[in-house]
Amino acid sequence: SAKGEGKNTYRFYRREMTDKLQRRREMEISLRAAVENGAELELFYQPFVEADRGMVSGFEALLRWRRPGGMVSPGEFIPIAEDVGLMHPIGLWVLRTACLQAMTWPEHLTVSVNLSPIQFRNVDLFRDIRAIVEETGIEPSRLQLEVTESLMLENADAILATLTDLRSLGIRISMDDFGTGYSSLGYLTRYPFDKVKIDQSFVRRMEMSQNLAVIRSVINLSEALGIAVIAEGVETEEHYAALKAEGCPEMQGYHFSRPVPPSDIPAVLMRTYATSLRGEAKRAGRP
Ligand code: C2E
Ligand code: MG
Ligand code: MG
Ligand code: MG
Repeated sequence: SAKGEGKNTYRFYRREMTDKLQRRREMEISLRAAVENGAELELFYQPFVEADRGMVSGFEALLRWRRPGGMVSPGEFIPIAEDVGLMHPIGLWVLRTACLQAMTWPEHLTVSVNLSPIQFRNVDLFRDIRAIVEETGIEPSRLQLEVTESLMLENADAILATLTDLRSLGIRISMDDFGTGYSSLGYLTRYPFDKVKIDQSFVRRMEMSQNLAVIRSVINLSEALGIAVIAEGVETEEHYAALKAEGCPEMQGYHFSRPVPPSDIPAVLMRTYATSLRGEAKRAGRP
């Protein structure tokens, strides 16, 4: 009967909910343990590549959680970390680890670290970041912090003050995933950003004229405002060439390199350097 079916659907729904909550609860417990023992968290690194000569200018640190059952993506565990109060300790671990890692690289390379809006709710954020910069000895101008548009929904005066304090140390601030959230071009003039990252959704489908229009206007506006610009999610030679033709100065994506463990960084640098030299030789008309 219809009534019986309804009951079954309800039961099924309940079971599904319970499974989901169960999995989340398990994740929360093991994430807490992972943060405490510090053994399962790792950073991978993805290069930023200069469009003109193909040289690497720096790397973005991307968090990975290696569990006995396999890797969990940050898209899955970061929201949990944010909900259960683990984002602050994790965020500081990421920053410290990335700065220490960058200290082993050639000095011209920058390191970029993602910050969650939740971290800005901690009144100690600025002091904690400054302490890590001092303790690791990283040159502040080599450090970039990536924030998303959702940060602008938090207390605007407090955010502006923190970003301004960070910049006064010489740290650079990037606006990540630009064009996705509650985008307002006004953010680019009201907040002190050094760099804008064009979201990969526009790049992935830049054949569509609307996306190309957004890419063009972000490049032009950033240029006019004196803000650096980078395109994310560049997966193909075609997109690389098209973005270069649009005057996009910097790019990031699988076309150049996937995020790699720290041990693969020298290989990424050598490979991109070799590609760049071949490009130079070609431009100079040498074989
Ligand atoms: P994001 O900061 O915008 O990072 C870019 C994401 O796109 C990364 O996913 C990267 O692996 C992926 N990606 C890079 N190039 C390509 C490409 O050519 N094609 C495609 N399809 N994807 C590409 P990932 O590592 O899974 O990270 C997802 C998001 O998780 C990040 O987006 C960032 O918002 C967040 N996240 C990662 N690490 C951290 C962290 O340490 N702290 C915080 N707060 N958030 C983090
Ligand atoms: Mg990012
Ligand atoms: Mg992004
Ligand atoms: Mg993103």
